[in-house]
Amino acid sequence: MGRRAAPTSARRCSSIPAGTSSGGPGTRPTRSSTPTSTPGRATTRAICGGSSSSAVPTPTARSSAWPDAVTVDLFIRDARVVRPDALVDCGLVIREGRVVAVLAPGETASARRTLDAGGRPVLPGLIDTHVHLGNAAQSFAADCATESRHAVTGGVTTLLPFVITRESYLDALPGLQRAVGEGVVDMAFHAIIIREHQVDEIPRMAHEFGVRAFKTFMAYKGREISPSGIQGLGDDTIFSVFQKVAAIPGGIAIVHCENMDVIELHQKPFVAAGRQDTAAWSEARPEFGELEAIRRMALFAEAAGVQLLVPHMGVGLGSEFLRQKRWGRGRVATETCPHYLALDKDTDRGVQGKVNPPLRSRPHVEALWQRLTDGTIDVLGSDHCPYTRAVKGTDLWTARAGITGGSAMILPVLLT
Ligand SMILES: [Zn+2]
Repeated sequence: MGRRAAPTSARRCSSIPAGTSSGGPGTRPTRSSTPTSTPGRATTRAICGGSSSSAVPTPTARSSAWPDAVTVDLFIRDARVVRPDALVDCGLVIREGRVVAVLAPGETASARRTLDAGGRPVLPGLIDTHVHLGNAAQSFAADCATESRHAVTGGVTTLLPFVITRESYLDALPGLQRAVGEGVVDMAFHAIIIREHQVDEIPRMAHEFGVRAFKTFMAYKGREISPSGIQGLGDDTIFSVFQKVAAIPGGIAIVHCENMDVIELHQKPFVAAGRQDTAAWSEARPEFGELEAIRRMALFAEAAGVQLLVPHMGVGLGSEFLRQKRWGRGRVATETCPHYLALDKDTDRGVQGKVNPPLRSRPHVEALWQRLTDGTIDVLGSDHCPYTRAVKGTDLWTARAGITGGSAMILPVLLT
């Protein structure tokens, strides 16, 4: 079966389109990767990290049906394969979960199963780079089951959940890896470091469990510490994490970038005024506090010589500097999320619009689309936080932060 916790945390959809990237035959909902709309402002490069450019060669004319001697599992006829640089009309021949031939339009293959794409786009199975499972109403295993089934309805065939424990990851990871078996997609873990004792575990987490990406939080201090255990760390601990991650081949440091002191200063008048609207949450966490934190972490990355991923970018205006991908020995990539591309702070959703970093104004939304298409933003993850309304809470200042957008929202937001 194709379900597994992958040995690295940052696998890309580097080879195979049609949602069949690495599993065995029949393990992927290929049909779900066949949207009926035409791709709009962004290609799969935005989601897949730009590594799929060589995935599907241009079809070449053949004189006969393919293959003559080998039985294949699936033939997708009349497909428009979406490559970063082009839409290619072709047929796809798939065997044991991999594309083994790309046929010119009109050519056929004998296969156990044939799908007629009817000229619709066929994309690689998407990777959702950012989900939170097991943080709220359900266990991690239960969320693997329900949220992965939700994900495939949107063409997502790999999830990268942020796992979290207050205890030892070396003790927790075996159980978390077993829980992945409850799901129907590939998964790889990002680990959230919330305790100093976990910093020293990083080399063994990488070596023994294949975890490559480690997240820390600058915000979430004091009364904002999350019931899920998410807790901000000091600069000293964050930099120690950077140093450990820099020593891991392919290691990625991820930091939730917000300046907590700036937030606490700005929240006071909004709390005192009894504001409960989405804009209040946003305006109490001003953009400059987010941008300052990102710039500081880019300097930390340079000093530590680490690959930094700035997750969930909601600030579009003022983030142009992130087009610079290298700071000396440090490299910086960025991620945004469907809610920052679709929603703004001025449409009041009350507590349902509470997310960190917060939703921003419409000019920021428009700028983010520009950052996505000009290459400033590298990946797109849902930051899906599956809460029930009861778990989320009803008071703006004490409710859980996070939007239940869902992995399946990535493609619709990009296409519309
Ligand atoms: Zn998140």
